[in-house]
Amino acid sequence: MFCRQWDPASVLNWFCFSGSYLANGCLMMSNKRNSEIIIVGGGPAGLAAALALTQKGARCTVVDHAKPPVDKACGEGLMPDSRLALARLGVSITEQGNGVFTGIKFNRGKLSVEASFPHGSGVGVRRTLLHDKLISQAEKVGVNLMWNSRIKLLENEKVVINNEPIDYEWLIGADGLNSAVRKWASFDAEEKVCYRYGARRHYRVNLWTERMEIYWADCGQMYITPVGATEICVIFLSRSLDVRFDQAMSQFPLLIERLAKAVPIDNLKGAATATRQLKIVAKGRIALVGDAAGSVDAITGEGLALSFRQSIALADAIECGDISSYCRKQKELALLPTRMANLMLLLDRYPNLQEKALDALSRTPETFGKLLASHVGHKSLPLTLATEVPKFAWSFLLSSVGSPNEIPAI
Ligand SMILES: Cc1cc2nc3c(=O)[nH]c(=O)nc-3n(C[C@H](O)[C@H](O)[C@H](O)COP(=O)(O)OP(=O)(O)OC[C@H]3O[C@@H](n4cnc5c(N)ncnc54)[C@H](O)[C@@H]3O)c2cc1C
Repeated sequence: MFCRQWDPASVLNWFCFSGSYLANGCLMMSNKRNSEIIIVGGGPAGLAAALALTQKGARCTVVDHAKPPVDKACGEGLMPDSRLALARLGVSITEQGNGVFTGIKFNRGKLSVEASFPHGSGVGVRRTLLHDKLISQAEKVGVNLMWNSRIKLLENEKVVINNEPIDYEWLIGADGLNSAVRKWASFDAEEKVCYRYGARRHYRVNLWTERMEIYWADCGQMYITPVGATEICVIFLSRSLDVRFDQAMSQFPLLIERLAKAVPIDNLKGAATATRQLKIVAKGRIALVGDAAGSVDAITGEGLALSFRQSIALADAIECGDISSYCRKQKELALLPTRMANLMLLLDRYPNLQEKALDALSRTPETFGKLLASHVGHKSLPLTLATEVPKFAWSFLLSSVGSPNEIPAI
């Protein structure tokens, strides 16, 4: 249980944090009055962690050096599973006023393949709107929000916020891809990291699709999320910073056609995305969540869902005083999106493969549907791969040889 519920003044007020460690790295909740959980970073992950911890009775302070509205280049798509995780935190993103997508569609040149989600639909929600919703819920449940604030991370795990030294029971790093907390706590021994770059622009348009659409080309991918009845978010993702959004567009003739009458409504905004796995995400009284704790490439559309699920797992682990269970769960949660990211990055790396894979998938659309069901956690990925790979491989072989009509009789 958390200290807030232990309020009697007689409780060991002087109890040292350091005394609360167990040799194996587990932490017992200390009895220190006024001690609390400090969360560095008030993005989706930091706010989600505050909501999950508050549900368990903890008192949380979120410290961010920015001030809302905080915008970020993002595909702005919440898959059905992301919406479920968010609902567990008390935040509901409805379809009203937002974009709706019923599945995913891949395009390359004249090839395309699509599938519907097995259950529910995704929503496209402007990043600033999502942030606003998370902030409102955090305020409602009594999270202390400190925007525009400076946090200094000093030696011996000492922390200063706006020039005031602060005691804390837990310090959670939710400060994004380039996490300062991760470096400070020396959790940055990375197993693997692969960076790509994203640029985002919104358009007003006559909506032509009910899908989140991903257009593949040699230079990268353009992906489209409906974020309103007449608004889309377009993201260009690429391995190279040298390929610019407008310049890249020439490789997506179908999209040029679709956007012919669309009106850009903002300037380009860029951000890096990474597929990164960390060896350590928590130790002692410091833990990481969200992109700070490792991330999956933006093309998966699963970054936010992962942050929300991690937050719930972190709160469970802190509540039961077993932080090592968070480390295990975090790895487990990251496994599926990381595998999907790796599959997509393989296609990204080998453009020749893209055409053949899309051709093969368009011949076996049920395989694409099962992969999508696995992606949103409805089917086991290893099982899907075991049953679908042979069909896909055969189809892939056919597409390498030519169309079925062109296959010579054996
Ligand atoms: C191009 C692109 C497209 C994406 N598309 C999607 C998508 O469609 N769907 C999806 O689910 N995910 C998507 N993602 C991933 C998603 O955006 C991230 O997973 C998500 O933003 C992670 O949230 P976070 O809170 O961990 O980090 P962030 O959103 O980066 O928030 C970090 C916060 O920490 C604060 N901060 C940083 N350093 C400090 C400091 N030293 N002190 C105080 N505060 C600090 C920042 O101001 C910020 O508010 C995309 C990512 C990119 C780059």
